[in-house]
Amino acid sequence: MYYKKIGKEIKRYHTIIIARHIGPDPDALGSSIGLKELILNNFPKKQVYVVGAPASRFKYLGNVDKLPEIDYSKALLIVTDTPDTKRIDGADHTKFAKVIKIDHHPLVEKFADIELIDDKASSASQLIIELAKINHFRLNQEIASKLYLGVVADTNRFLYEYTSYKTFELVAWLIKKTNLNFTSLYDNLYTKSLKEIVFSGYISLNMQITEAGLAYIKLTDNILKKFDVDPSTAGNLIENYNNVDKIKVVAFCSEDKGNNCIKCSIRSKGPIINEIASHYSGGGHIYASGARPKTFEEVDKMLEELNKICQSFE
Ligand code: AMP
Repeated sequence: MYYKKIGKEIKRYHTIIIARHIGPDPDALGSSIGLKELILNNFPKKQVYVVGAPASRFKYLGNVDKLPEIDYSKALLIVTDTPDTKRIDGADHTKFAKVIKIDHHPLVEKFADIELIDDKASSASQLIIELAKINHFRLNQEIASKLYLGVVADTNRFLYEYTSYKTFELVAWLIKKTNLNFTSLYDNLYTKSLKEIVFSGYISLNMQITEAGLAYIKLTDNILKKFDVDPSTAGNLIENYNNVDKIKVVAFCSEDKGNNCIKCSIRSKGPIINEIASHYSGGGHIYASGARPKTFEEVDKMLEELNKICQSFE
């Protein structure tokens, strides 16, 4: 893989911009902000910036930067956790001297000069830990905490399929190297507000489950307002429903008036869902995807397709 080569490019460029996907989750933030701090910890004179919209919900993972005037033609862009250009947040990849992708999604689009893709890796943060290890980069607890939380969030505490011996090996190395007090980090990730729990009660009572094993709920803006939650809240709760007996696929679809779409989070216990998500302005991993249909009529079509794959999945 390209770990050494990427290490060399990091050494070569003075100005480095790091980007991740729109609507970031802890892995997108942990891998990008963790990588920035990793580079600065080893090369303090470099100029390194993380771009993209701020994510106040995950502010414990660090902040994004305001991009100063820079000469892009001399700068390196590293994009983490993002398979295609339309999902890069805050950077135009065509402007840079060199572009590196570090990702664990299945290949959607080749856009970088160096593409480090491992779609069997648990998370982009795992790939950054491996980058640090192979290049003998110095770590500290701050960096380690961000990368650790990225891995933990994307594996749902080492539960999911792509958690491997390598995940444990790299995480154990990270903890040992930095003496990381990792149990103290969980509060940030797992503390929920009371209104989320009440909303979760509404979802549990109102979601539909088809005979084929598709669980779904359609949440209008009015319902979200009633519970004082936003279009991302249901998606943040979806992991709680992915281990329920007889449910093969879960889809939570929330009206997102601000972005003029229906924000859907989809999870699966077997049927492959990212192909269907891609028909509705979405994509993602084979068992964890998102989609952005424009109307609830489109949502119904997507749910029909999801129900069909549940029917044909043994
Ligand atoms: P989420 O349900 O938002 O946590 O997303 C689950 C996975 O699907 C993540 O890997 C996201 O990057 C991916 N994903 C979510 N929304 C989209 C989208 N509109 N297009 C492509 N991939 C998406």
